[in-house]
Amino acid sequence: MIFDSLLKETFVLHCYVITWTGDIPAITKIMHLTGHNSYMGCRFCYIKGIYCQQSKHIYYPCSMPKDFNIQNFDPLNLPKRTPRTFERDILKVENESQNNVKKSYIKETGWSNYRQLPCDLKQKY
Ligand SMILES: [Zn+2]
Repeated sequence: MIFDSLLKETFVLHCYVITWTGDIPAITKIMHLTGHNSYMGCRFCYIKGIYCQQSKHIYYPCSMPKDFNIQNFDPLNLPKRTPRTFERDILKVENESQNNVKKSYIKETGWSNYRQLPCDLKQKY
């Protein structure tokens, strides 16, 4: 209950999160994504990362090296994530009961499993 000092009465305040901000790791956790160092590290699109052995890091070339079996990406027409694709990805991961298949879906979609989030974020849901 909240007290309204003008009307001198209490009322129930309903709050809703309509936007948030943060650095990349914070946004990644809030959005349940695998992170900017994963193979599906972009929260806006489905560009795929590849592992660079020399730098021991994932990077996201639009023109893939020849020995990778991944399509090239047009930087002006990247496959965007939408509310519909987020929902599809979430359902795909959440509805899978076999852990090894679920892990492959997480790698494929970039959507991480809710249960893997830190405790402080779980309590908010
Ligand atoms: Zn992107």
